[in-house]
Amino acid sequence: QSVQIKNALISVYYKDNLEPIIHELNRLGVNIYSTGGTETFIRDLGVDVIAVEDLTSYPSILGGRVKTLHPKVFGGILSRRGLDSDAQQLAQYAIPEIDLVIVDLYPFEETVNSGAGQEDIIEKIDIGGISLIRAAAKNFKDVVIVASKNDYGILEDILKSQDGATTIDQRRTFAQKAFNISSNYDTHIFQYFDQTEPMPVFKQSIQTSQTLRYGENPHQKGTFYGNLEAMFTKLNGKELSYNNLVDVDAAVALINEFTEPTFAILKHTNACGIASRLHTKEAWLDALACDPVSAFGGVLITNAEVCEATALEIDKIFYEVLIAPAYTDDALKVLTAKKNRIVLIRNKVELPTKQFKTLLNGVIEQDMDLVIEGPLQMNPVTEKVPTTEELKDLFFANKVVKHTKSNTIVFAKNSQLMASGVGQTSRVDSLKQAIIKAESFGFDLKGAVMASDAFFPFPDCVEIAADAGITAVLQPGGSIKDQDSINMCNQKGIAMVTTGVRHFKH
Ligand code: 5GP
Repeated sequence: QSVQIKNALISVYYKDNLEPIIHELNRLGVNIYSTGGTETFIRDLGVDVIAVEDLTSYPSILGGRVKTLHPKVFGGILSRRGLDSDAQQLAQYAIPEIDLVIVDLYPFEETVNSGAGQEDIIEKIDIGGISLIRAAAKNFKDVVIVASKNDYGILEDILKSQDGATTIDQRRTFAQKAFNISSNYDTHIFQYFDQTEPMPVFKQSIQTSQTLRYGENPHQKGTFYGNLEAMFTKLNGKELSYNNLVDVDAAVALINEFTEPTFAILKHTNACGIASRLHTKEAWLDALACDPVSAFGGVLITNAEVCEATALEIDKIFYEVLIAPAYTDDALKVLTAKKNRIVLIRNKVELPTKQFKTLLNGVIEQDMDLVIEGPLQMNPVTEKVPTTEELKDLFFANKVVKHTKSNTIVFAKNSQLMASGVGQTSRVDSLKQAIIKAESFGFDLKGAVMASDAFFPFPDCVEIAADAGITAVLQPGGSIKDQDSINMCNQKGIAMVTTGVRHFKH
């Protein structure tokens, strides 16, 4: 049902951007009730406003600790419209029905983060504001609650386009946001008081949440439980979507494997390009060269500072998200010119070591795959042993394999991904896909290496790979037919190492 706003209560900490709403409410003839500082702000705009003190016949007391906590305020917010007994009581006690509440809470979290002392922090625990939010949100059937300065714009649009009326859907959405705000607010207070041992990172991070525009597809709702603001500093662009987050997660895990300057491009959680080079620009160009078609709309990540020269190259393609530990000022000028592209600084944050996933009617948990085999764990099993160059490339390829959907085959040469076959139902299909991709982007596989996430059940993969030019192979080993693959390598004159560690990723 549509409800026309007649009486509003406004009590906000930050007065910025409130002005257009006040003028709009004034134009609509809405009576405005307000608290101390907010009242002065409204009066200074030349708009009539009724002090809450005049409504309650009580002054604001205890230095502002008790301002709006009064039945004359809460009665008007909580009364059930259409219920005769409530209406009679409102009339009996001369309580006006309030149908719009605008609150912006005392900035508790900011005060804690500013390093303020305990007294200041405690004073910033909002009491009346949080009660107003809860009361108005509870009565969303008839009351509009705007609980954050971030929603002033939305309210203004609604007021203008619907001439002071709101729909039940709009009021419910505002109420949902309001409870999200109040629960996050109380979580921060709890965290401040919490003296117990630091909680495992995962538990800590799920205490805050963020409603996503939608889930994997527009008809799926989505929420992120965690603290993105701690993980990333956003310098440009829209909000991260569900799919962005999934890719960003994969990108962070992949880049964590590398210490030398590296650039990776991910699509649907798989690397479609990655290269390690002395300079970031070369790393970017060689990552892009791997598959410039897939790179379109990708998530880009590097572990090195992005300079202007690199930024100018990156800027030539359309991407969704760019993540780096730092950017030069010149680089940022280039990268922030396009409004939609998300540019993030990655902060140093401890990541969970456990992974959870809903499954059937429960949840499965596992340790993250946090191991990677160095050259010392690469056990040569063929007559030919890999050269130093090949070993280096096998090390590189194995890192990429670990972060690519199974079944995976990865080709690499000179610390650059040449091609991969990802997520196929047979390893031979992954291999064939990788060969086709490498050839289609002009790579000569002669002297390239191949890594496989799991063992070869038959010798067919190494045979096809050797014929395509591959000279060294890495695989975990462990098949009862390992020897068949080893014999095939010997026959073809190529090297193979086994690591003993499988890296499935589903
Ligand atoms: P103003 O600047 O208008 O004097 O105060 C606005 C702030 O007071 C808002 O942040 C609002 O949440 C908060 N507030 C409103 N009523 C009360 C109350 O009764 N007690 C406390 N502690 N805060 C209140």
